[in-house]
Amino acid sequence: MAKHDDFGKLLVFGRRDELVALKNHLLKLSLREVQSTKIQGPSPPYKDAVLCIYCNEPNADVIWASLQQLGVKRRIWKYGYETEKDWEPMGRLRKLNEQYRPRRICTSCLSSMNELPSNITIVEDSSLCDYCGH
Ligand SMILES: [Zn+2]
Repeated sequence: MAKHDDFGKLLVFGRRDELVALKNHLLKLSLREVQSTKIQGPSPPYKDAVLCIYCNEPNADVIWASLQQLGVKRRIWKYGYETEKDWEPMGRLRKLNEQYRPRRICTSCLSSMNELPSNITIVEDSSLCDYCGH
């Protein structure tokens, strides 16, 4: 994908059930500008879920107009290349996700740890362990 591809997404944040309803309303409009949609989350530390509406940037205004008619007051535009950047090894979202992702640890790894990592579940089966299991 080219660095300045105009593909990206509109993001609308809110309660998941509200976003599901919004998505259904939007899909009923059958806008040809909408390439696809996806609802994610909520994932910690955020309380809101997010509706992603994928499209090309020149088409975002048309979709935004429809969203406003459906009562949406705020949206964010994000280019695909910006999303990719955030998920690179040292990217912002990757780091956040690593930080909050629950991990599992087996009892033998646990015994070798000096300090217990936060957000962790102890498992008996080492094949489920995020540290030594595969
Ligand atoms: Zn282990």
